[in-house]
Amino acid sequence: MLQDKDRIFTNLYGYQSWHLDAARARGAWDNTKALLELGQDTIIDRIKASGLRGRGGAGFPTGMKWSFMPKNPTPERPSFLVINADESEPGSCKDREIIRHDPHLLIEGALVAGFAMRARAAYIYIRGEYIREAETLFAAVAEAYAAGLVGKNACGSGYDFDVFVHRGAGAYICGEETAMIESLEGKKGQPRLKPPFPAGAGLYGCPTTVNNVESIAVAPTILRRSPEWFASFGNENNKGTKLFQISGHVNKPCVVEEAMSIPFRELIEKHCGGIRGGWDNLLAVIPGGSSVPVVPAAQIMDCAMDFDGLKAVGSGLGTAAVIVMDKSTDIVRAISRLSYFYKHESCGQCTPCREGTGWMWRVMERMRTGDADISEIDTLQQVTKQVEGHTICALGDAAAWPIQGLIKHFRPEMERRINERRSGGLETMQEAAE
Ligand code: SF4
Repeated sequence: MLQDKDRIFTNLYGYQSWHLDAARARGAWDNTKALLELGQDTIIDRIKASGLRGRGGAGFPTGMKWSFMPKNPTPERPSFLVINADESEPGSCKDREIIRHDPHLLIEGALVAGFAMRARAAYIYIRGEYIREAETLFAAVAEAYAAGLVGKNACGSGYDFDVFVHRGAGAYICGEETAMIESLEGKKGQPRLKPPFPAGAGLYGCPTTVNNVESIAVAPTILRRSPEWFASFGNENNKGTKLFQISGHVNKPCVVEEAMSIPFRELIEKHCGGIRGGWDNLLAVIPGGSSVPVVPAAQIMDCAMDFDGLKAVGSGLGTAAVIVMDKSTDIVRAISRLSYFYKHESCGQCTPCREGTGWMWRVMERMRTGDADISEIDTLQQVTKQVEGHTICALGDAAAWPIQGLIKHFRPEMERRINERRSGGLETMQEAAE
């Protein structure tokens, strides 16, 4: 288990103040100038050496992402850092804890990361529903400006760096990096076709890197404590500490910082007081936010909670939003509800997603009530394959994967409902569903 001395987020639960003085007492903004004096290339090399992979879901190596930015930006075409705080994936709630309880970790990280990629400014895009969190963030940024930590000659380093906070309006799709850029530019938040990638032409057509809140907030501590320290946690290729958000049928749902690769059972036992009703009562887990496939109990028990461990069981770490479901769960209904979410959040630009998400949800609703034919399960599976990988952004995949996971692991349950419906058990099932 991760020891307190190795925790990066020491005010995760808000027991102390988020204000600058308290943040400084916890170690934030401690001689940040010296970190900047390492120089851009050294900072990027150290982040690469730490093994940090993006914490927003894709798991792309963070240092490498920063290194894609141009080495000689001009005043006419500056570079930008965009920080994705549009945390909207069902189950995810870690960036919220960082922003409301330790915002200075994020702002300091913005300066360090922005400097490393030679950016002129950072834009923190925070989801519209995070009203109190946005208030805290605005106030924390104002504190940082007042103390000379950001703005002109940030931290006395001679580097000018602005931090802007931008509130979204509640659309899930604005968490997609190019939709976020469109939204920041004042347009409708719809994803762009890639290429060009943001590092080539992003915000206002300028080179841009979009990073998750957690990826940025851990950067200063990695530089202070050394890349080797960070890389000492987790398995090969899955390094560092990680915020896990455990919800659902555990005795004590929580957000907790743990070492990457901790086995699922250990994570739940140590931090959540076990599964509601005991381990035999576990049905399945969605381990990385609603868009990753569900994993049945037997496969997740001893699985390493990291990118590769969850990939090996056909799912993904995503944002490490662990949704635990016990045997009281109507799994078909649960996945159908997720299908509704993706249908609702589709931006409508591409046909497979716009039409497919609605179609999949309608069929999932019939699967829920059993009002379907057994052969439609295969048709549903085929349609998910026609949506997956055939859309502009990953929302199409996100809508397809939960259904694919359901069919893969819970097909007998889907067939049972259809057969029961045929034999006259519908009323009972509908009652159960309601
Ligand atoms: Fe929009 Fe869906 Fe296409 Fe993404 S996949 S661009 S959300 S229609």
